[in-house]
Amino acid sequence: MTNNPGSKKESNMETTAIRTQIERTQFMEHSAPLYLTSSYVFEDAEDMRASFSEEKERNIYSRFSNPNTSEFIEKIAAMEGAETGYAFATGMSAVFSTLAALLNSGDHIVSARSIFGSTHSLFTKYFPKWNISHSYFNVNEIDSVESLIKPETKILFAESPTNPGVDIIDLEELGRIAKKHNLILIIDNCFATPYLQNPIKFGADLVIHSATKLIDGQGRVLGGVTVGSADLIREIYLFSRNTGPALSPFNAWILSKSLETLLVRLDRHCENALKVAEFLEQEANAENVKYPFLKSHPQYEVAKKQMKLGGNIISFEIKGGLEAGRKFIDNVQLCSRSANLGDTRSIVTHPASTTHSKLSEEDRLEAGITPGLVRISVGLEHIDDIIKDLKQALNA
Ligand SMILES: *Cc1c(COP(=O)(O)O)cnc(C)c1O
Repeated sequence: MTNNPGSKKESNMETTAIRTQIERTQFMEHSAPLYLTSSYVFEDAEDMRASFSEEKERNIYSRFSNPNTSEFIEKIAAMEGAETGYAFATGMSAVFSTLAALLNSGDHIVSARSIFGSTHSLFTKYFPKWNISHSYFNVNEIDSVESLIKPETKILFAESPTNPGVDIIDLEELGRIAKKHNLILIIDNCFATPYLQNPIKFGADLVIHSATKLIDGQGRVLGGVTVGSADLIREIYLFSRNTGPALSPFNAWILSKSLETLLVRLDRHCENALKVAEFLEQEANAENVKYPFLKSHPQYEVAKKQMKLGGNIISFEIKGGLEAGRKFIDNVQLCSRSANLGDTRSIVTHPASTTHSKLSEEDRLEAGITPGLVRISVGLEHIDDIIKDLKQALNA
């Protein structure tokens, strides 16, 4: 297929992330050149016919493929251990297009309840318009998953770690259930990145990323990507080349460069986050501190089994509920008040009044989003400065 000549790389991930590259031009650029072109030209009528009929693998139009996009896809696919992929303008266009390409009217999705707010809106507001239904399971009740599966269930969907509660779902267990019931297992791997966790190893069929977060990692561009087997990606590719959610070549160029530094950035993000989590556990005003690699995390053993490091997201509850949560957000001085995450800059968010405000109070509580819940995306500032800021904001 023209989208991506994906190939499994044998080398170590550090090397794959840096050395997987598109061909260089006659100028012998060291860094990848940027191909800002909407379309491509053909030798003659026969070349054009053969290209459109896919007898030839080549670029035709940048809604279908582009060299920069292909490089980004090939890197991510190699890092995730997937055959190939397709890259999208945003994480949400990756989630929507992946599901829409595979689902038919009448189909049913079984999903974890703790999912990204817009994915929840997709399931509850928009998919019902096309007669696609869903059932949710609570992340700590994985035993209930099989009882939710119906004859028309096609997809099993989850995120781990979850947003914003930082719960962990046993991917190996989901993989086993999906295989037994012949479901397509889709994992939104945004919080883990291809460095910390590779869901395909545990039986996932497709892995989705919002590249906007830790993959860019510097808060510059939006992007998304889905990787998996060539058959499934083929369906997603054909749907997407007709419906148009393609990633821009410029953003693909940025994101492919970002992958070169993903592993070293993540090492520091995770080191800082563990220290912040340990600090919060000692603070009287912070309760229910959740970080996958804290021994107190309810799914610590599962996190250790499926993740290389704990990631950079921590959730905790401020003593005093909604008012105290909002006050904490108001009082931070170094950390940014923003809804984004996975940036070099540390960010604090109050999910109940922002990212998850569209959920009903009941849905929020069922997903573990209490009024005082705060999410921290730990950045790359000096650890002492991050902790100093959190300490003064907690005690102000
Ligand atoms: C941010 C996010 C998305 C959506 O990504 P965008 O690039 O903002 O569209 C999807 N899933 C998770 C887990 C996210 O954090």
